[in-house]
Amino acid sequence: MNFITKHDEKPKITLSDFFGQIYETDQDELPKFKIFIEGNWVFSKDGSTFDVESPIDNSIIARASRATLEDSKNAVRAAYENKQKIREIPAIERLLIFEKARELLLQHKDEVVNVLITELGKTLKGAEGEVHATAERLKLAMEEARKIYGEYIPGDWVEDTVGKFSLVVREPIGVVLTITPFNYPLFIASAKIIPALVSGNAVVAKPSSDTPITLLLFARILEAAGIPSGTLNVVTGGGKEVGDALVASNEISMISFTGSTDVGNRIANIAGIKKLHLELGGKTAAIVLGDADLDLAARKCVEGALKNSGQRCDGISRILVQEKVADAFVRKTLGEVEKWTIGDPRDPNTKVGPLTNEAALKKVDRLVQDAIHKGAKLLKGGTYNKFYYSPTILDFVPLTADIAWEETFGPVVTVIRVKDLDEAIQVANKSKYGLDSAVFTNSFYNAWKAAKLLQDGEITINDAPAHGVGNFPFGGVKESGIGREGLGYSIDEMTTIKTIVFNLEPAGLGKAKKH
Ligand code: NAP
Repeated sequence: MNFITKHDEKPKITLSDFFGQIYETDQDELPKFKIFIEGNWVFSKDGSTFDVESPIDNSIIARASRATLEDSKNAVRAAYENKQKIREIPAIERLLIFEKARELLLQHKDEVVNVLITELGKTLKGAEGEVHATAERLKLAMEEARKIYGEYIPGDWVEDTVGKFSLVVREPIGVVLTITPFNYPLFIASAKIIPALVSGNAVVAKPSSDTPITLLLFARILEAAGIPSGTLNVVTGGGKEVGDALVASNEISMISFTGSTDVGNRIANIAGIKKLHLELGGKTAAIVLGDADLDLAARKCVEGALKNSGQRCDGISRILVQEKVADAFVRKTLGEVEKWTIGDPRDPNTKVGPLTNEAALKKVDRLVQDAIHKGAKLLKGGTYNKFYYSPTILDFVPLTADIAWEETFGPVVTVIRVKDLDEAIQVANKSKYGLDSAVFTNSFYNAWKAAKLLQDGEITINDAPAHGVGNFPFGGVKESGIGREGLGYSIDEMTTIKTIVFNLEPAGLGKAKKH
């Protein structure tokens, strides 16, 4: 069966029997999805739902359950009461569950790809990439899990602990609450859920209300792979309605959140005493210097700005180009943007699909119009049809324009001309964000100077930033967040240290004599 709807058909979710228990079909033939609590697929306590629309044509493609406060509390309780189940599975057997999950994900790839395209408007290539990268994530997590070691610390280097030693062991932190954004519904959720489970934690997961379905499919895959019941729970519904109850719960030990800085702030304010991992907004600057390979810089900057329709926290959302090469760079950039065809994301030739919703579209247009109004030169684009915003190039963007500072989250190449590297670093660092930056140069010293002085969690030399599968750590400073993601780093964050001290006196290996 072909699960991917053709681009001349209405966007539609088609699933095999494997996913049969996670939804029912409504009177109007739309799938109505359930939530997953303590190993059971159920509708919300009061039966309420919300519509899930496809940005491809704004049609309703499904309904998702609107979890009540009681549902959310039940999900947390289930995770809390069942958390022992997963940590008690011998590690070698736990890994087999993830091996199986990987196999099932790849087996059901087309269904997941279709849901990603349909609910998010992700391009076919982008959706396939997201599934494959998640399969890679499962593989890497299994390798990283083998590195959960402890440490032996001899006591006799310090008088106070002579005759003792300690073993420092890593243990699962408990219940991890994951809250994730709309733009990579599988990839970002899996960046949290996989390391949490693989290191022996229980999870409550809440996806974005714009793209809630992909995560339900992934939960079904993990269930079928053998995750013990109650150790993974998924609730869908408005962050504003259920968010506070989840975030403030004393039974949650850690919150792993990816989303906007505003929501991250709210979470930090009400979380109480629990570990916080916040992956927030960004305003990636790409610095293009006079000594750069301009063909490479133009190609990578355009890719960084337009991939996923610009809806990426690490997307290049301003290019600080040195004046002396700016004309040549912009010319090459125009040529590159031509290659980014906009259209129906199901068409294999499409590279830029729609934005996620009307609010996103209006924001991008407001930023573009504001920049033009303040003196920027529109070289291409600046128009839209439904949720499709045409790939846009703005040159000579003044620093007074909002687009120089606010997250764009749309397909806009924003060129700001600067005198030299020092000015570029100064402008880049003025942002309240500090997630990613990129530097294009052929000088080692310029690259090193920029890398040392830029205030970001990750600096990429001669490429567009990409957080990737999670082999390298990533995360932000300033208002871009706290903590680091990446499989090994996430496992570190999701485990806690326990110190076990042995007194050797009973073995006749007592304390040293006092002098
Ligand atoms: P968002 O509006 O902040 O939403 C993120 C998640 O938070 C959603 O699941 C949302 O649920 C939930 N939420 C909303 N209000 C809440 C509350 N009061 N309590 C608890 N949860 C709440 O972000 P978005 O628009 O989906 O995603 C775009 C943002 O994410 C951008 O700022 C982008 O930079 C950032 N991002 C960062 C990274 C990174 O690695 N640093 C990666 C990707 C995206 P509802 O959808 O139900 O409201």
